[in-house]
Amino acid sequence: MQLIEFTDKGLYCAPGNFYIDPWKPVDKAIITHAHSDHARWGSKQYLCHHYTKPLLQARLGDNVYESIGWNESIRLNEVTVSLHPAGHIIGSSQVRVSYKDEVWVVSGDYKTETDHISGVFEPVQCHAFITESTFGLPIYNWMPQESIYEKIRNWVIANKAAGKTSVLIAYSLGKAQRVLKALEPLQEKIYVHGAIWNMHQALLSAGILMPAVERVTPETTKDDLKAGIVIAPPGADGSPWMKRMEPYAVGMCSGWMQVRGNVRRRNADAGFILSDHADWKGLLAAIRATRAEKVFVTHGFQSTLSRYLNEQGIYSAEVKTEYGNDDEEAVNDTGIVEPHDDQINAEL
Ligand SMILES: [Zn+2]
Ligand SMILES: [Zn+2]
Repeated sequence: MQLIEFTDKGLYCAPGNFYIDPWKPVDKAIITHAHSDHARWGSKQYLCHHYTKPLLQARLGDNVYESIGWNESIRLNEVTVSLHPAGHIIGSSQVRVSYKDEVWVVSGDYKTETDHISGVFEPVQCHAFITESTFGLPIYNWMPQESIYEKIRNWVIANKAAGKTSVLIAYSLGKAQRVLKALEPLQEKIYVHGAIWNMHQALLSAGILMPAVERVTPETTKDDLKAGIVIAPPGADGSPWMKRMEPYAVGMCSGWMQVRGNVRRRNADAGFILSDHADWKGLLAAIRATRAEKVFVTHGFQSTLSRYLNEQGIYSAEVKTEYGNDDEEAVNDTGIVEPHDDQINAEL
């Protein structure tokens, strides 16, 4: 039974009459997380996790929002729906859809290593699993988060000793909050770009505890920022906004930094391989844990992952969606995939 159909508006559950992360306006949208390609404007009603609600309000303005907690079930017609942590960004959820004897799970985006702020990815058994594949190639193999965090801190300390401001480029929702946590042990004042400030305020309003930050404003002086720490989104990189940080060093935080050459192409001084998505092993472990008989693969390296799963005896098909223009996914603007990759370290 095709409990979730792939339509031109998005993933549709006919017996429940709702969409999951639709890319066109619909009556009822269940939203996995607040990244702009999964949470689009124009629907009549939104259902999401409690933590996602203030983020949607900040990004989509006033609408009808309903929110529930993880592992909490609601009924939509004859269908039971529940949300389960996806570990991707704060509030990110997998959507479990159950009707008669059939269970399907839509993963949204996810990562399997816990980052201590986004909730711990929860494997949910199902008949069919719809997975992302942003980093669905065997070359993507993340180092433990704590060692990446340590590299970031050491880089910041070295910049300070050299009289340079550290500018860490991280997406405003997801990566920025993790970088903030990584920097917390340094006990330094941290400045953020306005885009990150806005997300920060939304998270605080949801009752989420975050380290203190200061917003960079026109009043922020060069002296304030001298040899300090700044977190900014990719859009600010190389813009006049960054002039006041001079002299500075740029550190780019993204899974794409694992591809050789991306640090150079983006004119960064350092690349930190930090991702909010599962690596190759994480994807496979998550898929196996669902025990799904059918796996549909969306945005990323669909054909590679799907082919691999079929070879392993798990029925799999690729699905074309309009996801993949958020955050980290958009950083891969080089479109380059190099299978003979060496890790790029902070030393570069
Ligand atoms: Zn996302
Ligand atoms: Zn996505």
